Amino acid sequence: MSEVDLLPNIKRLPTQLANQIAAGEVIERPASVIKELIENALDAQASRVDIELVNGGMEGITVSDDGHGIHAKELSLAISRHATSKIDSVEDLLNLHSLGFRGEALASICSVSEWEIISRPQAQEQAAKITYLMPDKIMDINHAQGTRISIKQLFCNTPARRKFLRAERTEYRHCEDVIKRMALARFDVAFYLKHNDRQTLKLQAVSDDTGRSRRVAQICGENFIKQSIVIDYPHSSMRLWGWLSQPEYSRQSTDLQYFYINGRIIRDRVINHAIRLAYQHLLPPGRHAAYVLHLEIDPAVVDVNVHPTKYEARFRESRIIHDFISRSIRDAIHQTSPDTYKFNQQNVHNGVYINQGTQTHQHKSIAEQQAFYQQTTQSKFGDILTIVDDCFALTQQQQRLFLIDLKAAAAKWVSTQLFTGLKTKQIKSLPLLIPQRLTLTKQQAANFSRHNAELTRLGFELSLTEDESLLVRKVPSLTQCYESTSLIMNLLMLSPVTNISAENLNAVLFDLIPDYTMLDLNIMLTAIESSNQQSTDEFAACWREITTADLGNWLGE
Ligand code: ADP
Ligand code: MG
Repeated sequence: MSEVDLLPNIKRLPTQLANQIAAGEVIERPASVIKELIENALDAQASRVDIELVNGGMEGITVSDDGHGIHAKELSLAISRHATSKIDSVEDLLNLHSLGFRGEALASICSVSEWEIISRPQAQEQAAKITYLMPDKIMDINHAQGTRISIKQLFCNTPARRKFLRAERTEYRHCEDVIKRMALARFDVAFYLKHNDRQTLKLQAVSDDTGRSRRVAQICGENFIKQSIVIDYPHSSMRLWGWLSQPEYSRQSTDLQYFYINGRIIRDRVINHAIRLAYQHLLPPGRHAAYVLHLEIDPAVVDVNVHPTKYEARFRESRIIHDFISRSIRDAIHQTSPDTYKFNQQNVHNGVYINQGTQTHQHKSIAEQQAFYQQTTQSKFGDILTIVDDCFALTQQQQRLFLIDLKAAAAKWVSTQLFTGLKTKQIKSLPLLIPQRLTLTKQQAANFSRHNAELTRLGFELSLTEDESLLVRKVPSLTQCYESTSLIMNLLMLSPVTNISAENLNAVLFDLIPDYTMLDLNIMLTAIESSNQQSTDEFAACWREITTADLGNWLGE
């Protein structure tokens, strides 16, 4: 036999198998089916969604809605892969107004279950039904307007997946979590949940502040709502609204943290950081804030087509969004100092009021809110207008403009802080979730033994393994914005005869571009400003004021 004959043949996967593989990405458990089916109902403008589960959803899931339905002749198409009514072209992806757009959910769900779909658009006299037994056979049936999708025996034909399912209670809890999450996204839609024929959740549609607060209380608990601040911050092209816990209320875990972008739940590092930053120093160590927050932005500036489950997002201007969120929350918390805890007319500022059960909102006008919002930063450098070239912050304080070299400032700031910490022995370390293993060059390994004591004092926890690689267990928390691997590798390149000093640490930090989204620019600006006032001039090289002559030069006048 020749070598060529031994090659495996390439063949196209059968549709069913391709769909089952794709299902692996989005359908992990009953809760993921529910998420997809509810998203479809919401995209179909439903005003009510009914969910029925059998045995935690593992034996049965039925989602019924009163939305616009699916035409009988398109029913079979709806369950095929890459079939969607929500986008037509790649441009539509840049301006999404629907939760779905990939045309994969129904195909994936149907490929791993026994299913039945009934649907009736308003204009169609009879409802139509198709089932897994004969997917192309359309049957007439009586049914109200809307769609009803029933899934039985999830993962019946993919036993490996089924094995990963947990106890009924656990699966049920996941399902309930998804429904609650969706219910906090859409207050105008009613959600009803039945588990093994028992009504377990009843959320009526609400359209006013009282109703919305009541729904939040139903889902997040009375305690949260009683100790929350209601915010509503409009910005030129964004709006942040919702409920935040007062610093007096905190939780052991991050279980009550709901963040939505244009009605879609999002878990995002930049946003989490912005919120954590706003609560920094206000919560006891190890405690977490609780919130239900909605960010409304132009869909064109956010890309949700990053991950099949659409839980992640990418922003065109993440810094502006980060700062807007952080500042709005900080401002809201700031305004609720203890003596303003009682709700009354005067305490309502800038779209913030302290929630007191079912009181009505009293907001200032949008113009007043914006005017205040723009004045809040009193620092010499004022507000950050934009980040230029990913490297410079352009800021404005009244008529003055400043350009701040973020790279230089970050390096200087971190190295100064580390060295001050070294003197006062107050450096905080951050354990890495998973220790990182680095392979060292001979020279780096030799340098390691020289520098290890200093690195430890700086907040690193490193150890050399038997096979001569380095295990990184902790890094100084100040260097969070730097990639720890490169940071350590570069430090170990320093000549063994020189000690690690503020100067060469600064040089190493400068060479590594930090992740700016992890830095609190406002803290940094304050640091630069205060060091300048004490005329130590440490940060003098990091910023300059833009003069009219500069502008003239740049504009070529
Ligand atoms: P996507 O939501 O990404 O478009 P799906 O596979 O979830 O893909 O659904 C395919 C299509 O079936 C949708 O684009 C929509 O036209 C239709 N559809 C699915 N569920 C419903 C529903 N509950 N009501 C109306 N139409 C639906
Ligand atoms: Mg969908």
